[in-house]
Amino acid sequence: MDDRPASTVSALEYDPAPESAAVARLRESYGLFVGGAFVEAADGATFETLNPATEEPLARVAQAGEADVVAAVAAARRAYDKVWRKTTGPQRSKYLFRIARLIQERSRELAVLESLDNGKPIRESRDLDVPLAAAHFFYYAGWADKLDHAGFGPDPRPLGVAGQIIPWNFPLLMAAWKLAPALAAGNTCVLKPAETTPLSVLVLAEILQQAELPDGVVNVVTGDGSAGAALVASPVDKVAFTGSTEVGKVIQRRLAGRGTRLTLELGGKGANIVFDDAPIDEVVEGIVDGIFFNQGHVCCAGSRLLVQESVAEEVLHRLRRRVDQLRVGDPLDKNTDVGAINSAAQLEKIRELTDWGEREGATRYTSPCALPERGYWFAPTVFTEVAQTHRIAREEVFGPVLSVLTFRTPEEAVAKANNTTYGLACGVWSEKGSRTLWVAERLRAGVVWANTYNRFDPASPFGGVRESGFGREGGRHGLEAYLDV
Ligand code: NAP
Ligand code: MG
Repeated sequence: MDDRPASTVSALEYDPAPESAAVARLRESYGLFVGGAFVEAADGATFETLNPATEEPLARVAQAGEADVVAAVAAARRAYDKVWRKTTGPQRSKYLFRIARLIQERSRELAVLESLDNGKPIRESRDLDVPLAAAHFFYYAGWADKLDHAGFGPDPRPLGVAGQIIPWNFPLLMAAWKLAPALAAGNTCVLKPAETTPLSVLVLAEILQQAELPDGVVNVVTGDGSAGAALVASPVDKVAFTGSTEVGKVIQRRLAGRGTRLTLELGGKGANIVFDDAPIDEVVEGIVDGIFFNQGHVCCAGSRLLVQESVAEEVLHRLRRRVDQLRVGDPLDKNTDVGAINSAAQLEKIRELTDWGEREGATRYTSPCALPERGYWFAPTVFTEVAQTHRIAREEVFGPVLSVLTFRTPEEAVAKANNTTYGLACGVWSEKGSRTLWVAERLRAGVVWANTYNRFDPASPFGGVRESGFGREGGRHGLEAYLDV
């Protein structure tokens, strides 16, 4: 084992290896996608989307007002009544397969665009976001012609028009999670991307045109939260929301008594539990994946590390050395591990909560990495001496910030892991299968990973309990959310 202090072990030097921004084929302006065509907002309103790594504007995008949302929902309703509800399963499969193939064909463009608009490293957008988005369309293409045999009765029916609202952390991937099962089940859609990351979804809309998906089957209304609120207020048959618990509660209240179906994928405060028999080097990689993947802008992030006291010192020693080696910087550089924080507002939120961490008495360790001068950046940070009452142990930071707590017994680990209002995901690290199962059975979370973290597969259902929401996306369960069963 290397006993040098963490700060003297330097990262391997890499030459810059930037992907070309030109690959994204950015346009000056982008419209709403309504009834199969790109259109301006009725009142001509637009907003700017930025590159968070440089603070430079990327493009102007149409801001949907109430009239535009009404028009989009009407287009979706017409498409549902006249075309989509009459399609057969095999016809819908064909469209979904086409969309999946076109995402693959345009994968480099989509990956660069996603990294520009969101700030995430190209390594992640290229190897995870885009391939997983394609995988979701492939997966649900396989279901569209088998709905009668999916265990939902002999003739399951679609719900009608789905209003879908997504956040900025995985823009294209969240769009795929929403659209693929909805279309497979025979619904039409109106999708509202987040204000800071509309671009990849608009290129997806182009792909839908290329795939010759009938007009109005999918509509995209870009804009801020007011466009989302207008969509919730419109006469849709189903609302699917991914975002903060706060907004999820607002939506639930708005829909009360209306009979509109609702699924909510909300925040989390995932516990990553490390037992003393787990292989430490793998554990360290798992901790890093759990919290520094996508700058920690991950609802299911392993943001609370629970480590067994007997190995805590060694795990933390190796973790700090690994954190020092994370390369933070240009999202388009293929060697970058941690990219830019998505927005000034999110950076402010991370700073506020981490300041509270120190104020409440936790010990802060910050990676000594150099940060670029322009753009929104936050160095990977680990807090030790964290108490369960601290804000950084209770609230979702949604940034590259880990809170470390310790435990002695499996019972204590379970009690601490469950001591949260959320219930999205947890991780368990142990060589003993019996112990992993014992713990997993007692964790109140929608997903439990064993000896891995942040692993996603379209065949596997994902979703939360308690304040992390309800409903599942992915797998056969994901179909149920769009069928009248
Ligand atoms: P957010 O503020 O709740 O925004 C999510 C989406 O809702 C955005 O498109 C937003 O538009 C829109 N919106 C805002 N106010 C609205 C309203 N009153 N009515 C309808 N829609 C409204 O969340 P965020 O800060 O962007 O995203 C981070 C949160 O999402 C985190 O808490 C994270 O845990 C959660 N998340 C959960 C999952 C999951 O699967 N469980 C996945 C990813 C993220 P604007 O962006 O334009 O304001
Ligand atoms: Mg942006």
